[in-house]
Formats: sequence, C-alpha cells, structure tokens
Amino acid sequence: MKKITVLSGKGGVGKSSIAGSLAVLLAKKHEVICADCDVDASNLGLVLGLKEKDFEEWERISTNEKAVLDEKKCNGCKKCVESCYFKAIKWNKEKKQPVFDSLICEGCGACEIVCPENAIILEKVQNAKIGFGKTKYGFGIVSGQLEMGESGSGKVVAEVRKLAEKKGKGAEIMVIDAAAGIGCPVIASVVGSDFVIGVTEPTPSGLSDLKRALQMTEHFGIGCGIVINKHDLNPKFTKRIEAFAKENGLEVLAKIPYEKAFVEALINLVPIIEFKSETKKFFEEIIGKLPKD
Ligand code: SF4
Ligand code: SF4
Repeated sequence: MKKITVLSGKGGVGKSSIAGSLAVLLAKKHEVICADCDVDASNLGLVLGLKEKDFEEWERISTNEKAVLDEKKCNGCKKCVESCYFKAIKWNKEKKQPVFDSLICEGCGACEIVCPENAIILEKVQNAKIGFGKTKYGFGIVSGQLEMGESGSGKVVAEVRKLAEKKGKGAEIMVIDAAAGIGCPVIASVVGSDFVIGVTEPTPSGLSDLKRALQMTEHFGIGCGIVINKHDLNPKFTKRIEAFAKENGLEVLAKIPYEKAFVEALINLVPIIEFKSETKKFFEEIIGKLPKD
C-alpha cells in the first residue's frame, strides 16, 4: 500500500481540505483508505461528510498512565513528593499523605520507584479514541481523537495508522492527514510514508514553517512536493516559495488560487472537489505529478 502524507508547517492553510479532495479523486481509480492523524484537531471526517456519530465504531484507547495511591500502604515518608519533577504531588497535612493531581501527572513513574512501601501504582487511563467510518465516496476513514489536555498524541497516531492498515487491507493507497507543525504526531504520521505533500500559503510564516517540516521529511529520506494554496494573495512571496523549491530540488505540485468556496465546502461538509468542480484540475495536477512507483 502506497502511503501519501499531507502535512503543513502551520495550521489553517487548507491541508485537510486538500487531503480530502485528493482522496476522493484518487478513489475514482484506486482502492483508498484515509487516516486522519491530526488527532488534536481531527476534521478530515467532516471534510468528507462524516460527523462523529456517522462513524461505525469508536474504541477507547490509552496513551498514558497516571500515579494512584494505595492509602493503606502509605507510611507518610514524603519521598514521592520530592521525586515528582512535574509537581503533580501535593501534601495533605491533615492526612499526612500525598495527593496526586491526575491532570499534571505525566506517568513518568519516578514516584513509584522511590516509594519504599509500594504504595503507588501506575494505572492506564483511557484518554483517547479511534474510530472507523465509511464515506459516501466509497472508501473508509480511520480517525483518532486525543482528549483535551492529554499527552501521547504520537501514540494515538500510531493506533490510527494500525487500524487504517487493518481496515484498508487490500487498498492501494493510504492518504494520511498529518497534524500541523513538526511535533510528535507529525513525525508519527510521516514515518514510513512513500511521499509527502507539503501544503503552504505565501506568507513568511507559511514558508518558514514549511521549511522546518520539510527538514523533518528530509531526515527520514522521504520524497516531497509542495502545494501553494491561495498563491494569488501574495504573488511576490509565491515566487520566493517557488525559488526555495527549485533550490532544494522540490517540485511545486500545484498552485491553487484563493477560493472562497473552500470555506463554503467545509461548512457544507463536502470536499471542495465535489463542491466546486472547477477545482478538480488542481487535484488532477497534483496526482499527475506524484511518483509513479
Ligand atoms: S508518575 Fe511521575 S509525574 Fe506522575 S506523580 Fe509520579 S512522579 Fe509525578
Ligand atoms: S513515598 Fe510512598 S510511603 Fe512515602 S509518602 Fe509517598 S506514597 Fe507514602
């Protein structure tokens, strides 16, 4: 299965809209499965017309552990309080026992190690979910969501990709919608991809963030191309992005003009390619420039 990851150095440049429309067009000739790996702000399902309730199944998963106290075993030595780098353990003076703040606890296990009475155990917390749904365009999508304030987004991405492999068994192409930026969930989305499409817009921050994202793909030795969205809003800067691409041997796969219909398509839960057929040519251009093998 060929894996194509769509990423952007910064949010709001139209990455998920482009990933969704690419999947719809690719699915006209190939078996496709989508993996929504933007687990902190997943919306590829919405782009493809699927609300959360439209997914066939959701499974709760755990990406983290939290420290829990067995009060009966605690001797009040206070060693755990000193061991917590994250300051997740407060001291209850009246009870002479520690109090664990689960919102701050990172599950590092230091307190468990120092406790002489084995009064602390690390318990798994179900803080994320992954789900599978079928789009009306004939292909499936796996999506992941990490609960607010929780850590472990890279692990959720790994689970989303595993389920996408399973649900998309026999598919020829997996379209992966990565998170914006270059953090852990993006790395987990990019690793093992065959090609990366970097979406950017012609602004200084768009270019500098794209450069950082592409450095990461270079590190993994993955081929990459660039899509410049809203290119006509800043022709001068578009030229700079094109010059950057040329200098670095990267192909500009397509330049998409500013299109109000992108927002209208999102509001109507329809991929832009279906909402405004004139945009099809941009996605055909991208697909035409993808590596053939
Ligand atoms: S597991 Fe780590 S972060 Fe959590 S309370 Fe213990 S020492 Fe602190
Ligand atoms: S280290 Fe263990 S025994 Fe000591 S205060 Fe903490 S939980 Fe209680």
